[in-house]
Amino acid sequence: MIRYRVTVLELMKRIESQAPGWLEKARNWTDKARKVKKFVEGGPPWRDVKSVFTELQSSKCLYCERCLPRAPISDVERDVEHYRPKKAVHSWPPAASKRDLGLISGFPLGSASAEGYYLLAHNVLNYGASCKTCNSSLKGDRFPIAGPRRTQEDDVRKLRAEKPYLLFPIGDYADTDDPEDLIGFLGTTPIVKVANGHAHRRALVTIGFFQLDRDDLQRERAHVLTTLWEAYEDLQRHRSKKRRMVAKLKIDHLLSGKWHHTSCARAYYALLQTDRAQAEQYYDLSVRMAFR
Ligand SMILES: [Zn+2]
Repeated sequence: MIRYRVTVLELMKRIESQAPGWLEKARNWTDKARKVKKFVEGGPPWRDVKSVFTELQSSKCLYCERCLPRAPISDVERDVEHYRPKKAVHSWPPAASKRDLGLISGFPLGSASAEGYYLLAHNVLNYGASCKTCNSSLKGDRFPIAGPRRTQEDDVRKLRAEKPYLLFPIGDYADTDDPEDLIGFLGTTPIVKVANGHAHRRALVTIGFFQLDRDDLQRERAHVLTTLWEAYEDLQRHRSKKRRMVAKLKIDHLLSGKWHHTSCARAYYALLQTDRAQAEQYYDLSVRMAFR
């Protein structure tokens, strides 16, 4: 997971440019919800602003950093994700899975809520674009927090007081933690970088919640790591000027944020420069994982 830098003003400009009048309709719809104190069906369609987040996130999933196709026909593969659920919030983890998440047990994860964050249903500061697996299969209407739930609050900055566990990497209005400061990688495996406190638990819960160690993601990261290792080797010692030039292009691209699993790539690139022997071990493991 990496941060996508954008200010509130810039985001609003992008939304207005993509869907003129959408923001005003959204404000009116939020007023309706405020009057009846619950989510109101209808309102300006979320799909109209989806491409703003697709572009902002270089077409990657907000949470797992998988690349999804950019073509409009492929829009079905991603959702406009409501960071805070727009309707009822259910507790996480479900009772049935608690025994499988031993590391996460032992601290509060927030109460359920019948009404949910209905005032944020049409607030773009609560949006991102995520893959169907992260949004529909894993997240759904769950939103674990450490503090008291404040579903009547519509200011996303004030809502930081809820101490959410899930990281939100768009701008810094809803979340000031940089995911790359909290979650690192040993080879292709995500790890918690912070030793204790809420930041430690955020990383732990985010990895567990989105199953960021799942096999398909690790295999994609293995491809990234093998490409990075080989490009780094070429850049250091290949006789061909063209091969060195292509190697530089590959490295820059993999670290730029425009391709999948940038956070893993950046962690591995740092290791390449400080501990070549360890990096080679991860390369060997990645070759076996990627090409099995
Ligand atoms: Zn995802």
